[in-house]
Amino acid sequence: MAQVKAEKIAPGVKSAGPTRAFVKKVIGFFDEYYPEAGCSLEFHDPFQLLAATILSAQCTDERVNRTTPGLFRRFPDARSMAQADPEELEEIIKPCGFYHNKAKSLLGMSQKVTEEYGGRIPETLEELVKLPGVGRKTANVVLGNAFGVPGLTVDTHLGRVSRRLGLSASQDPEKVEADLAAVIPRERWTLFSHQAIHHGRALCRSQRPLCHECPFFKSCPRIGVADKAASKKK
Ligand code: SF4
Repeated sequence: MAQVKAEKIAPGVKSAGPTRAFVKKVIGFFDEYYPEAGCSLEFHDPFQLLAATILSAQCTDERVNRTTPGLFRRFPDARSMAQADPEELEEIIKPCGFYHNKAKSLLGMSQKVTEEYGGRIPETLEELVKLPGVGRKTANVVLGNAFGVPGLTVDTHLGRVSRRLGLSASQDPEKVEADLAAVIPRERWTLFSHQAIHHGRALCRSQRPLCHECPFFKSCPRIGVADKAASKKK
């Protein structure tokens, strides 16, 4: 994990930063341009958010949001989903893709939550990641957005944006999470994740980042971004 030391706080990162001042600048940029960034999955309780997050793998949040109302009408809680007929479950979640594996995860998760936690979603990372189909990213989504426990949700967008900004040099989501945890104040983890993900979708795109439209362009080390890959302003 990167240690906070004097001015340089992420040793080994090839960039002008990140210094404390640089991290502050990134946070200021995010707060100015993405003040309202939040979870775009629709849910009414921790169970619904966990199920929706499982469905969101390799799928857009919009598509998940179109699928979950029907799913939760049929299976409103862990107890009812634990008894679902796998084929019926697959049919309902089919639009989200990978429906065979996702149905297995939903069933396994619901059964374990019902048997071991009386139908209530556990509130710690350690317990959440032991549920079928639940990794650190999914667990942190639930912690941060359903329980108010700060969590860094390192998906493909947060990882990419962090590397380009020089906040982490790693491709490993767990290492990125540790690097970010060392430099971003804990109470900001959930919001910072939403803001970076939002920025990654809007401008700091994977293939052709819109650097010339990005308000952070002048301050950004743009690590790993080839000039020709960055789209010019249209
Ligand atoms: S300048 Fe480019 S690389 Fe840097 S944050 Fe903006 S879009 Fe991403």
